[in-house]
Amino acid sequence: MTARRSKTERPVKKSAAVYKKVALSLKSKPAAPPEPSRRIAFLGAECYPFVKTGGLGDVMYALPRALRGLGCAVRVLLPCYRCIPEAYRESMRDRGEFMLELCADGRSYPMGIRELERDGVVYDFLDNEEFFGCGNPYTDLARDIPRYCFFSKAALAALNYLDWIPDVLHCHDWQAALAPVYLRTLFAETPVGRAKSMLTIHNLRFQGIHNLPTVLYWSALPYHLVDYRLLKQGYADANMFKCGLAFADSITTVSETYAAEIQTEFYGEGLDAHLRFHSWKMRGIVNGIDTSIWNSRTDRLIAATYGEADAPDKKKRNKRALQERLGLEQDESKMLIGLVSRLTDQKGLDLLSAILPELLDGSTQFAFLGTGEARYEEAFRRFESEHRGTVSASILYDEPLAHQIYAGADAFLVPSLFEPCGLTQLIAMRYGTVPIVRETGGLKDTVLPYDAGNDTGNGFTFDRYEAPLLLDAIRRAEEVYYRDRERWDGIVLRDMEKDVSWENSARQYRELYLHLRPEEALAEK
Ligand code: ADP
Repeated sequence: MTARRSKTERPVKKSAAVYKKVALSLKSKPAAPPEPSRRIAFLGAECYPFVKTGGLGDVMYALPRALRGLGCAVRVLLPCYRCIPEAYRESMRDRGEFMLELCADGRSYPMGIRELERDGVVYDFLDNEEFFGCGNPYTDLARDIPRYCFFSKAALAALNYLDWIPDVLHCHDWQAALAPVYLRTLFAETPVGRAKSMLTIHNLRFQGIHNLPTVLYWSALPYHLVDYRLLKQGYADANMFKCGLAFADSITTVSETYAAEIQTEFYGEGLDAHLRFHSWKMRGIVNGIDTSIWNSRTDRLIAATYGEADAPDKKKRNKRALQERLGLEQDESKMLIGLVSRLTDQKGLDLLSAILPELLDGSTQFAFLGTGEARYEEAFRRFESEHRGTVSASILYDEPLAHQIYAGADAFLVPSLFEPCGLTQLIAMRYGTVPIVRETGGLKDTVLPYDAGNDTGNGFTFDRYEAPLLLDAIRRAEEVYYRDRERWDGIVLRDMEKDVSWENSARQYRELYLHLRPEEALAEK
């Protein structure tokens, strides 16, 4: 586009210096986003900063923003839970209200669309008091099945209502898995029916399995989907994720290793054969983290900000502050190992509980942050009360404390049984905190094992899911930390320099979107 010049305006003779300046500014301008762009609708059960319980919330926030930088228009559709902070609720504007026919017997529910925009991404919150008035994203399946049938259908109805027809409907986890199914059944002849669909597996353990009559009632899906290749599972159950995976035009999961693992019986959660059948349309793309939120240089939640150059010094200050806050002995020479996690079976906490007594010799300290299963919460509380000053267990969800642990700890534990991608090891590396991880899923793809011979690698790893191997990995880390600080600082530096941003992965998603061409015939409608 040429700029319009008024008649009175005269071309000004520019000095060489000015031209140089212009040339420089042109040079430093970010490259124009690659053409053509795509319209993407994101559907998922959580999204930071409105509601977050784990990594899905981070991805739903960060990936749309990264895609926007690549020229995509992105709209994020979410349930309007009561637990969304009032400050956000107040800034939402009403975009419309209508009745949504939901159930097999024609029962309808009112739904409202409430919208807000942040940094160029539009968020549409789908509101219904009966389904989302109770607060948190996940309750029990008896409640969650109806509310996520409602959510998937309401999202498609909202896109039609708003007349914002995406090229790709990017759905996340089982809670949004019926959307690709509706797209090719009940909504096939509606405007949104032109879109292609992508379903991303963030965690295959949760699939939305419930008895068939209940799912058929709430979803109102046609009976011919009651087929073992689609909705049916076992003798009398329906599996919402399985059906979504069958209907989706593309399946992604959050690391290449997890994409391969879930096609095996051990990791497949009963869907390995189904995934092998659909593997032709499945890809693994590793997650990134939002480096504007997770940035040790600018993080206002930590005691001292730092970059690569002053990390060794400033991390000590952060460690002191963390030790003080958590009631740990304030001694910067002690290695401090952090863990920030949901406290569930998945996270390898049984291994950790088994070896912790052996590690508690008064030198290395531990800072645990998490909530979850009672047995782990109790075990960590017990360790804390028996080893005050050496172990701290914060059994709560606390974003600021999480930041302080990432910044103040020396090493970070992720000994998971399975880990689709894992964000905590990425955040830890970004903060120069050395990960100790099991070689599974995204942990394997993102943490290069330390090789003492060549002095290379990002962290300490172990392969089989066995407590002695975890113990060995921690001992190897201690060895380098206590005996060869120069090498340790080298690992810290490599971790901080590692690219864990969304940049690369967002490009891969965009490439996939470009291959998913909307139905051209319908597109012309
Ligand atoms: P998952 O999605 O399986 O829970 P991820 O590693 O993908 O695991 O993501 C976990 C995210 O949740 C990270 O951003 C982590 O910092 C955060 N998190 C987990 N537990 C807590 C907690 N108790 N307090 C604060 N943040 C937490």
